[in-house]
Amino acid sequence: MSANPTPTRILIVEDEPDMARVLQFNLSRQGHGVDHAATLAAAAERLAGTTYQLVLLDLRLPDGSGLDFLAGQQGLPPVIVVSALGDETTVVEALNRGAEDFVAKPFRIRELLARVSATLRRHTPVAVPPNAEVVEDGGLRLDLASHEAASDGEPVILTRSEFRLVLHFLRNPGRVLTRKQLCDEALEAGGSVQERTIDAHIRTIRRKLGGQGQRIATVWGVGYRLVELGDEE
Ligand code: CA
Repeated sequence: MSANPTPTRILIVEDEPDMARVLQFNLSRQGHGVDHAATLAAAAERLAGTTYQLVLLDLRLPDGSGLDFLAGQQGLPPVIVVSALGDETTVVEALNRGAEDFVAKPFRIRELLARVSATLRRHTPVAVPPNAEVVEDGGLRLDLASHEAASDGEPVILTRSEFRLVLHFLRNPGRVLTRKQLCDEALEAGGSVQERTIDAHIRTIRRKLGGQGQRIATVWGVGYRLVELGDEE
């Protein structure tokens, strides 16, 4: 048994007993504290009484839809949806409603555990402070004060929109970002920018960033995510 220096508490919302047992067993072995709720009502009760660092959420529950739960609950911790409904529409809908990630059933347990670790890592408070003047990751560097960008040490000229998009990727490494999220959160464009415009921006950004540009991976049918070099999907 390895001691986990920063104990985390994870809530599994899953009505299928075997699936819940597999998740609970494997997450406990990683040193996490794990609770289980078999209905949305039980999940809401758990969330009201305990602080969780992560929720694994099934979508088809006996008392309703996990998608509605995502949209309806205030102040949820990060959520990874774990569902057999892995079609593009459902994945996009889940991400747009605030899920951090989506794992389709059946899944490989090691992949699921890796995604759990990645999500927990992204939400540890040592991440980039929101008003840091310089944001960097790997070979990408943005200076927020001077609006200068550099890729592998070489200066890169980015437009305002491109700069904001790259910044949004750097602040959400590894996270799948839908076109809609990139429009809304990075460009603050609301409905005025078409999601197709994002694809055009990404093409230009990839070209301008050279080798580092390959880190903006396409998540087919969904959007984009920033990966480590050599990790492209
Ligand atoms: Ca279910």
